[in-house]
Amino acid sequence: MPSPFVHLTIGTVLARQIGRHRPATRSLHWRLWLTCLFFSMAPDLDAVLGVITGDMAGYHNQISHSLFFGLLLCALLTPVCMVFLRWAQAGRVFLLIYGSYALHLALDWLTYGRGLMLFWPITERRFISPLQPFIGVRWSEGVFHHGHLFTLANEAAVLALGALLYLLIRQLRRPPA
Ligand SMILES: [Zn+2]
Repeated sequence: MPSPFVHLTIGTVLARQIGRHRPATRSLHWRLWLTCLFFSMAPDLDAVLGVITGDMAGYHNQISHSLFFGLLLCALLTPVCMVFLRWAQAGRVFLLIYGSYALHLALDWLTYGRGLMLFWPITERRFISPLQPFIGVRWSEGVFHHGHLFTLANEAAVLALGALLYLLIRQLRRPPA
């Protein structure tokens, strides 16, 4: 799994993009940002159980990392988010929070490791991208292990490359002056 740094960065980018198209007060922008951050990290809330029980592999990266579980959770939480975001359009709020959730799964899918039970409950088979640009965090080494610095360097490099590609594509699509 990538570190929270990647998930929170992508959640922030998503909130900024959505915020651009929604005229809103400063307070609503904060609410939008917090919502994107929460749902960008939500699949990993199962890690709390892993820490409490001391069985990270048994609890973390299980059914919370399936598209169906995310769909159900986001559908249930849409009314709460509508109130929090003061946004009356249920469909758009659902798309926002499920989009944040699904982006988390996509990033995990792109990370070296045991893969995700993406299609649970149809199958418990784990899926992983054939290309894995993220080396991932090894939480089993502890929270403050020096190896996490390599993970962070790898993630910063991949995100920087992604940003460069985005800027390049945007530049190429711009009509000539
Ligand atoms: Zn995850």
